[in-house]
Parts: sequence; C-alpha cells; structure tokens
Amino acid sequence: MEQNSQVKLLGVPFPKPDIYGSLSMPVYHTLAYEFSTAEEMAEAFTGSRADHTYSRVTNPTVQHFEDRVKAITNATGVTALNSGMAAISNAIITLARSGSNIVTSRHLFGNSYSFLVNTIAEFDVEIRFCDLTDPDDVVQQLDENSCALFVEVITNPQMEVVDLKALSEVLRPRGVPLVADTTIVPFTAFKAAEFGVDIEVISSTKYISGGGTSLGGLIIDYGRFNWSHSAKLKPFAGESPSAFHYKLRKEVHRNIGAYMTPEVAYMQSLGLETLPIRYERQSATCGQLAVRLQSLKGVEAVHYPGLEGNLYYAVSLDQFGEHPGAMLAFDLASKEHCFRFLNKLKLIRRATNLFDNQSLIIHPASTIYGGFTPKQREEMGVHDNSIRLSVGLESVESLFEDIKEALDKAR
Ligand SMILES: *Cc1c(COP(=O)(O)O)cnc(C)c1O
Repeated sequence: MEQNSQVKLLGVPFPKPDIYGSLSMPVYHTLAYEFSTAEEMAEAFTGSRADHTYSRVTNPTVQHFEDRVKAITNATGVTALNSGMAAISNAIITLARSGSNIVTSRHLFGNSYSFLVNTIAEFDVEIRFCDLTDPDDVVQQLDENSCALFVEVITNPQMEVVDLKALSEVLRPRGVPLVADTTIVPFTAFKAAEFGVDIEVISSTKYISGGGTSLGGLIIDYGRFNWSHSAKLKPFAGESPSAFHYKLRKEVHRNIGAYMTPEVAYMQSLGLETLPIRYERQSATCGQLAVRLQSLKGVEAVHYPGLEGNLYYAVSLDQFGEHPGAMLAFDLASKEHCFRFLNKLKLIRRATNLFDNQSLIIHPASTIYGGFTPKQREEMGVHDNSIRLSVGLESVESLFEDIKEALDKAR
C-alpha cells in the first residue's frame, strides 16, 4: 500500500477504504505486511512511519472500524479489541499498578466484577466499593492512590443510573479519571464526554454487532483527562494522542494480544451503519413495553429508568433522553414463577446477549450470576425473582402478547 493511503487511514474520518476504492471495506485477512526497503521497515516498526506491520498491532480493516467510531464520537483515540471484557481489562491494566486502588460499585456486570475482585486484585490493586448514586460516598473512598472511578452508566441487570456530571465534578479536583462502561446506551445516542466521561469502554458485541454476529470491544479516549495527575502515566504526558492511549497502544494491548480480528471489524462496521436506526426503534419499543408491562397481572415491578415513576428518571432523561436503552428488568413472584414464565414464551428467545435484533430473555441470578453465592448475589443486587429482557426489532404488540400469554399460562 502507498504511504499516502496509509496516512489517510490514520488521519481522516472516512478514509478511502482500500487501493481499489471498494465501497465496503474489505476484510484484510492478512497477518504481516511487506516493505520495499529495510529502512521503511525499520521506520514502520519504530512508529515514525504510519504503516501496518503485524495484525496483532494494527490491521487495515480494524483500523477502518476504529476510524469510523472515532468520526462518530469525536474521540482522540479509539482501540478495538476482541471482546468487551478485553476492552475493560486492557483499560484497567493501562491505568492501574501495584498499590493503586479502583473505586467502583458492586452493581457491575458479572465478569467485570470478577475481573476486579479476582483477577486484578491479585496484583495488589485494591478494589473499593461504594454507592455510586451518592457522590459523598464516592469522595470517602477516593485518595491519592485512586487510579480510576469505574462505573456502568446503567447497571445490568439492576438498572441503576449514575449521575455522571455529579461524579465528574468530585473527580476533577482530585485528579481521578472517570471510566465508564457505556454498553447499555450506544455513543450514537449518548455523548459520554459531554457528561464528564474520560475513558469509555464498550462491549461492541451488543448494539454495534447488532445481529449477534460477533464479540468485540472498544476503548474510547476523549483526550479530556490531564494525565500529569496520574502517577503511573505522568511520564507519557506529552505523547500522542494521550498518555493513556499511548501506553495502551504501544504496550498493553499488543502485549496482551487481544486486538479485534478483521472479520469481526468487517461485521461490526456493517453493524455501525444501521446502529442509530436499530437503536431508535428498539429503545422506543422497550419504553412502550415497560409502560405496558406494569399493568400485567403477576408482574410485581418493572425496572426501566425511562418510566416516570423510576427512581432515576430525571437523571436518566438528562443523560440518555426519553428512551434509555433497550433493556429492562421485571420481577415476578419467585424464581419458580420466572422459570415457568420463561418456558412458556414463544417469540422471545431464551438466550443471553443484549441488543440483538431479536428479543432475548434471561433469568440473571441462575445464569450469568449462577457462579456467585446467594450472599454475593444479594450484595450485587441480583434477585432471584427478576428477569432481564433485551428488546429487539419485533413489534411492541407481538412482544406484549407473547409476555402476556406466557404469564397467563405460568400462573
Ligand atoms: C456484555 C457486557 C460486557 C462484556 O462484554 P463481552 O463482549 O461479552 O466480553 C461488559 N459490560 C457490560 C455492561 C455488558 O453488558
């Protein structure tokens, strides 16, 4: 490839996809890249020349996907990884070191929780839990060794919403970055940086993949944070696009080896093109369904921050607009009631994953959180009588009918 087109790939929002001008970015199913001279090769490997060298480090198809995300989000740095967990673990490993602490909540996605308390804690990184809906409690936990506040913008499956502006206000003077998992509301609908998020991590497996085709993750760096406040990243403060992204790209992600594959980047680039339309439809259906489910016999509570009576309604409206995502949770009488109900569904699929084109339903306590003890589940706010529903592209009528009929049969 010519130097020129390589530079374009790195620099501009919608680069010419490839040397043939393919309208859809091809899958560059290649591992290594050839150079005309030893000098060019040396320059590429040392970073003074913007060429691809090896597909664990960069790949044209993956970079195209990253550039498109960058164009949508106006971020300064975007890295695509091979799962949401890879995005979360790489981001945390870039920020943390022995002796530092991470402040977060117990209301976290199961593997994120396990990564923090089981995996990274073994490297002498302290995990401090607090109530993220209470900024005063957060302040109590922060000190000079805090390397990040890690939050999920809407927790899954507890459906708790944090006030990001309030959190960012307490973090800023203390020099601690706000790291947010925004998987539940995509960046086409929610501008994380405007609410004080410094680093966004996403499981692109969910909304972006769309059809449930592939695992993927994204780390999005908004270039807002002053890394001279970070004891660990201070030495890289002058690097581009930021100390955080420099450390991530030059070292952590290539050493861990969890870069996105070109096949996945291809599928997820396609997903990106339809994301705003799918999201608009799925979140609106979810909002309507949440209202209607409240009236059904047997449903004890519906948890969706877009409901006017919801505890987080105001902050959610401010951050995410009228329809905060396409996931809701609802409570029935007991675990047995949940199981009977799930077994009677005809349209909604019993499966994990979120934001597939098809509606998916799961009993989190017995599945995703099945490996935790009842006490841990209680602390994490995962209840035995609760069901999580991810709303797809079906009509609200057909989904409501399916739920209503299954509830009637499951009594
Ligand atoms: C699914 C999910 C993850 C993990 O993503 P994977 O792509 O499955 O690794 C992390 N956070 C949240 C909120 C999720 O829903």
